[in-house]
Amino acid sequence: MEENTIISLAESHILHTYNRYPVVLDHGEGVYLYDTEGRKYLDFAAGIAVQALGYGNQEYNQALKEQVDKLLHTSNLYYNQPTMEAAAKLCAASGMDRVFFTNSGTEAIEGALKAAKKYAFEKDKCTDHEIIAMNHSFHGRSMGALAVTGNAHYREPFEPLPGIVRFADYNDLDSVKALVNDRTCAIIMETIQGEGGIYPATEEFLHGVKEICEERDILLILDEIQCGMGRTGEMFAYQGYGLKPDIMTCAKALGCGVPVGAFVMTEKVAEASLKPGDHGTTYGGNPFAGAAVSKVFDIFAQQKITEHVKEVGSYLEEQLELLKAEYSCIAARRGKGLMQGLELSIPVAEVSSKALKRGLLLITAGSNVLRFVPPLVIEKEHVDEMVRILKEIL
Ligand SMILES: *Cc1c(COP(=O)(O)O)cnc(C)c1O
Repeated sequence: MEENTIISLAESHILHTYNRYPVVLDHGEGVYLYDTEGRKYLDFAAGIAVQALGYGNQEYNQALKEQVDKLLHTSNLYYNQPTMEAAAKLCAASGMDRVFFTNSGTEAIEGALKAAKKYAFEKDKCTDHEIIAMNHSFHGRSMGALAVTGNAHYREPFEPLPGIVRFADYNDLDSVKALVNDRTCAIIMETIQGEGGIYPATEEFLHGVKEICEERDILLILDEIQCGMGRTGEMFAYQGYGLKPDIMTCAKALGCGVPVGAFVMTEKVAEASLKPGDHGTTYGGNPFAGAAVSKVFDIFAQQKITEHVKEVGSYLEEQLELLKAEYSCIAARRGKGLMQGLELSIPVAEVSSKALKRGLLLITAGSNVLRFVPPLVIEKEHVDEMVRILKEIL
């Protein structure tokens, strides 16, 4: 099919919730994508921080093919080997104890919120517990996830949203303290805000919030859906702060392309929250998703992905700092490892459109931030190639 035919099929049949870039992607190899017209793109978007291993990883593809021939789905009424292995690997990598697999990030958030509410309910049998979330956060599009998303534009048309949620300012500990009361059951935030414009939590803020949570038996929920799975150079971003949440959510790169998410908790929370019958999913963590997650953890370990991210991530950071020094339209650089953002004083959408025309996939975050979330297997030469193209545009 021709590019135009495919695009017009989409425009006549797909619900118009996205303004897509005018390109039809066809296949990928390494850190490059190819469209149906044979044009080649250097990928600094990774399908929104999903394709950590890039494209065409033979070992990963082989594991999926074998699982397709064996068994795709069983439901959660039975055990299966790949998913149980995946759970053990996720616990080992995160330092957490119990996993619930979902099909997406937003479902992982839903589960985390339910676990926190149940934990508080078990203590006092009351249902008026409050959650503190952050302004400019993003946690997903389902009603519960929207309820804790600090973006009026996403929320407003769908209100009232479930639960009592109060919004504090990210990296402002006093604003959190001002909202804490004896009804607070959880504080939820991204360890690094992604969609909101790539803002890492400060050490002081994250440790301060953790302290409040410990003092008052409030659960700390860290959303690692975007910043987890090696992106910052740690397997999970909170590990770089030397602390642990009570509940953690992950998705995006967890399956490296297979739709899967998870919420993961400590034994303490697990014992006192969701029990048989309290939560469920038909697809979540099916053997196919399990095989993907399990293989992703194997490849991360074999290829020492986090070490690679530390090295290439600091190179990317250096190069972006040099750009910032050279171009006055760059107001700030923020981020960790291979999750970086440049705040621009010129329209970012125009920059990403021009990048596409020059064979570079770059996405935006917030209204004025250019976001860099490439596959974690990129090399320095790919950073150089990206910088060269970006300079032409700037
Ligand atoms: C993408 C994202 C989500 C939502 O995940 P989906 O898989 O799109 O539902 C939630 N939280 C963060 C931090 C994200 O980046």
